[in-house]
Amino acid sequence: MNAYLERVLNHVRAKYAAEPEFVQTVEEVFESLEFVIDAHPEYEKADLLGRLVEPERMFTFRVVWTDDQGIAHTNTGYRCQFNGAIGPYKGGLRFRPTVYPGEMKFLGFEQTFKNALTGLPIGGAKGGSDFDPTGKSDAEIMRFCQSFMSALYRYIGPDIDVPAGDIGVGGREIGYLFGQYRRLKGVWENGVITGKGFSYGGSLIRPEATGYGAVYYLENVLKDHGESIQGKTIAASGFGNVCWGICKKAMQLGAKVVTLSGPDGYIYDPDGVATEEKVEYLLEMRASGRNRVQDYADKFGVQFFPGEKPWGVKADIAMPAAMQNDVKMDSAEKLVANGVKYYIEVANMPTTNDALAYLRKQEGFVVAPSKAVNAGGVAVSALEMSQNSERLVWSAEEVDEKLRGIMNNIYRQCVDTAAEYGLGYDLVSGANIAGFKRVAEAMMAQGIF
Ligand code: GLU
Repeated sequence: MNAYLERVLNHVRAKYAAEPEFVQTVEEVFESLEFVIDAHPEYEKADLLGRLVEPERMFTFRVVWTDDQGIAHTNTGYRCQFNGAIGPYKGGLRFRPTVYPGEMKFLGFEQTFKNALTGLPIGGAKGGSDFDPTGKSDAEIMRFCQSFMSALYRYIGPDIDVPAGDIGVGGREIGYLFGQYRRLKGVWENGVITGKGFSYGGSLIRPEATGYGAVYYLENVLKDHGESIQGKTIAASGFGNVCWGICKKAMQLGAKVVTLSGPDGYIYDPDGVATEEKVEYLLEMRASGRNRVQDYADKFGVQFFPGEKPWGVKADIAMPAAMQNDVKMDSAEKLVANGVKYYIEVANMPTTNDALAYLRKQEGFVVAPSKAVNAGGVAVSALEMSQNSERLVWSAEEVDEKLRGIMNNIYRQCVDTAAEYGLGYDLVSGANIAGFKRVAEAMMAQGIF
């Protein structure tokens, strides 16, 4: 490995030993950068890599809220403004009890490259809280969001940092967060949060965008392999907003998603989550706050496998769309044994590094990386910002068409960049190198700081 790359990597390993997800993502990206760093000796003098792994700013703040019984609870809020070289910081907020600084950093780092791949002017950030939305009433969620924004509002703004949703933060939470921002600042600031409801500045297709974008990326992969999406079966994990978008677009294009998963296990629906009623039921499941996928099995009379992951099911395509490290070595081996040929990552870092290396080594097996595949969500967020600043509204067709164009372009960048560096058809390295090059160029141009 390039000596400079290795030195920075070892520094990250030592410094962040207690934040393993962050180390994992840096290792994964750096592995692809060998040739680029070799070709740019000037990066070492400017300590480009050392700067790249250090978040520009990161805040923690106290979030106190009262439950419906009037009892106060205290959580920690975070915002990690990782890299603003190519545009205002941009990235989602995650509300989940396991949120800690290492998760914020890993997501902010990933976001930086993902946002660069979109070709749009957005920097990388992530935020959230260790708050658990499961089982909370609507009023409790509102009070939590208001308290969260009362601390966050002073650090964000349309030209500073534009948060959005992520796990545990959907349309309802964004509404409360935006409302509190407006109340505190006394202005209707354009584009300060994305994923807003359509009635107050949101973009059509934003709710569907991550899932739709992932399926558009998949279509590109299949086309390059002389295959069509029509009739294909997809094993997916998760049952949230992203998975909903995948099911909906797959259904429109004649493919079917046959598995969904939650913290309680997975369901197998051989007919596919492929009717209007089934797809819309996913939204109901999410809105119930129960965080259980078994509800789907009970409602539609399909099999439920408690405590298991869906990776042993027969399918053409796998799309992990739940959370990080969902696919470990044992699952990766099952996927290969079951004849899955296309592994399309959707959630951020859904695969452990050893499982990813194993899958990438398989003959005739295609791995597509999440930072490219799931970039459609944030890309449409940037389109929402554009519409807000132009004070107009684009039609669903217009946004969808733009999204498709962006995803086609991201796919091509992955393919062409890998080929340019003599790596053959390697979507993982192609995405890492292409994202890195854009950020590196912007950082070098702006001087050393
Ligand atoms: N949380 C989503 C992501 O990881 C969306 C971010 C955004 O729209 O800003 O890309």
